[in-house]
Amino acid sequence: MLDKTDAAAATFAMIIDGKPVAAPKSFAVTDPATGEVVGHAPQGTAQDLDAAVAAARRAFATWSLTSEEERAAACNAIADKLEQHADEIATLITREQGKPLNGLGSRFEMGGAVAWTRYTAALSAPVEVLQDTPEGRVELHRRPLGVVGSITPWNWPVMIAIWHIIPAVRSGNTVVSKPSPYTPLSTLRVIELMNEVLPAGVVNVVTADETEDNLGALMSGHEDIRKIVFTGSTPTGQKVMRSAADTMKRLTLELGGNDAGIVLPDVDPKAIAEGLFWSAFINMGQTCAALKRLYVHDDVYDAVCEALADYVRNVPMGAGLDEGSVMGPIANQMQFDKVKALAESGAAKGRVLTGGTAGEGLFFPVTLIADLENGDPLVDEEQFGPVLPIIRYTDLDAVIDAANDNPNGLGGSVWSSDIEAAKRIAARLECGTVWINKHGMIQPNAPFGGRKMSGFGVEFGKEGYQEYTDIQVIIA
Ligand code: NAD
Repeated sequence: MLDKTDAAAATFAMIIDGKPVAAPKSFAVTDPATGEVVGHAPQGTAQDLDAAVAAARRAFATWSLTSEEERAAACNAIADKLEQHADEIATLITREQGKPLNGLGSRFEMGGAVAWTRYTAALSAPVEVLQDTPEGRVELHRRPLGVVGSITPWNWPVMIAIWHIIPAVRSGNTVVSKPSPYTPLSTLRVIELMNEVLPAGVVNVVTADETEDNLGALMSGHEDIRKIVFTGSTPTGQKVMRSAADTMKRLTLELGGNDAGIVLPDVDPKAIAEGLFWSAFINMGQTCAALKRLYVHDDVYDAVCEALADYVRNVPMGAGLDEGSVMGPIANQMQFDKVKALAESGAAKGRVLTGGTAGEGLFFPVTLIADLENGDPLVDEEQFGPVLPIIRYTDLDAVIDAANDNPNGLGGSVWSSDIEAAKRIAARLECGTVWINKHGMIQPNAPFGGRKMSGFGVEFGKEGYQEYTDIQVIIA
């Protein structure tokens, strides 16, 4: 087999019905740190998508009837494969996405993928008996849906694919995956490995550069796909929702976020600086539930700004394959341009504490901009990059209103030494998860999802698992 970590221009294959499928055309995937071509992904077409859906439909007929034990064992076998190939895939993620191997980078992503796979392997949806009396017995069953379409973004390509695929497969569905054209290679490789342990057709993958063939759009309207699990931006999620209507697809939409963090006056600024840093800048800030607006009480405002800026100045940034880097480049030009424009708008009004201007290529230094407020683009819009606005506040009610004054509602955080006080504030925040003294630390047993324009449905835990099923009640 080709060593895909070293093959600078290797062409990867789609996997349809258990077999590698090439396409007459392919598109290049480049390393954001160097601009080099990492590999080529197949330019799949509507016919490839139809073939993948047909294979998944055929596989569903038998996969949906397998035992719980068999499906749990298959998921654990996938976890073993991921573990055995963790270094190889981490390198591929770093090369196509840019995040460093170290820090909360691609090795961490692979660790998460394995942990989520194992946790989900142990989930199930047992029959619930709602009534068992002389008058009758009522049972609630959860049935798999059929073919699930998974559409993923470029920021955590493998972890998010795993979040979609494993609960689908574990609950008896079959899958067609479509990764982002910016980062398709690691997903193609992961699904190739899955196919070493799964029956043909259970998990398929198609890729395309969507300027030519928008397979995501075709998936959301496809009559033989029963559910779309989508992670990406809110505008694309809205398109998915519109085109899913005709076939009444089930939807889980994990969309954009603009998470607020509220720092209360009782914190120790130096003690929280590291936590604030990783909350905002994990994966160069390209994380849905990263801290994206930081509201700090006047009493500790200067001290928090200073402690955070001190921390930022000591964080090594460089090419992700360099073992010394913990921060890397922005993942692609489109995102770089967006971040740069928002940073410039912030710098024109606020006080730049660190960074501020673009570096070489797609590198952008970690940028803190103080003295901004709601209404400023860097506060109101999702930056999805290494630039954090800091906002001063004095009144608690006003800051809660400011945090909620945004169409998004993914996550939020409160930073305080008084946990009960923080929980009372949490109850007033309009978002799916509130962290206290941390931010963005999702875990496989805690349902995660957005409110407002951040989407609907949840992933993870029992509630996330159930979203891959329809309820069927049997009354006897
Ligand atoms: P995006 O919406 O541009 O793309 C996401 C996926 O949708 C890609 O695979 C893309 O090819 C596909 N796509 C494009 N057009 C489509 C269409 N018409 N129909 C269906 N699919 C289509 O998002 P992105 O830039 O890859 O990711 C960044 C965004 O994702 C950010 O807003 C971020 O907050 C969000 N995100 C959310 C979560 C979450 O869990 N809530 C997690 C990660 C990222």
